[in-house]
Amino acid sequence: MLPEIERLLVLQDRDKKARALRTELKNLPIERKNLEQKLADARHLAGDAKTRQRTAEIEQARLETEIRSRRDQINKYEAQKLQTRKNEEFQALNHSIEHVRKEISGIEDRQLELMETLESLKPEVARSEKAAAEAASLVQRQLADLDTKCKNLEAQLAELEASREKYAGGLDEDLLDTYKRLFTSKTEALVALNHEVCSGCHMKVTASTAAATRAGKSIVHCEQCNRLLYLGDA
Ligand SMILES: [Zn+2]
Repeated sequence: MLPEIERLLVLQDRDKKARALRTELKNLPIERKNLEQKLADARHLAGDAKTRQRTAEIEQARLETEIRSRRDQINKYEAQKLQTRKNEEFQALNHSIEHVRKEISGIEDRQLELMETLESLKPEVARSEKAAAEAASLVQRQLADLDTKCKNLEAQLAELEASREKYAGGLDEDLLDTYKRLFTSKTEALVALNHEVCSGCHMKVTASTAAATRAGKSIVHCEQCNRLLYLGDA
């Protein structure tokens, strides 16, 4: 095999690793975002049950106030009853008291319903808060793992980039340019020729191209896809 091709194959191997690392690094923010979304969802779920609980508690307090003001009203009517001598007024006050009592009874029914709601919300709030806490600690661990992964990938990539010159240095500039162009546009710059078929474009090459590749004395391009050829299986 031509020494330049041999060196380019090593370079291509390292460049492919670097490219894979860059792709992985590029996807990390997406992974991070997904994890953060999971965390937000879990917290939202806990917040939702908690909000319903809080709303019910506020309503409960409001109903308590309503009952108090109606009881005050009944006391006022009772006091007025003591002061009146007219039977008609007395009856009217009794009627009003009866009306307010019915209202109180209606409010008390709503209070009971509310108490049941609050009772059933308790386990839901506890459950969702526990789930949110668990999700938070899991996601935080996963985020920390992601940070470690990111640092590892960056270190590997930095090592590959720092030593690239060692592998590329000394190679002919034009050849290196061709290699770079093909590597960028066609994923692989160097491909094996197997049984006279280019493994890049899967086309059969001409007999002279196959012969030149077998001879291994010059740089040979696939005439279909222009990739650099080296001898594969045969
Ligand atoms: Zn080809």
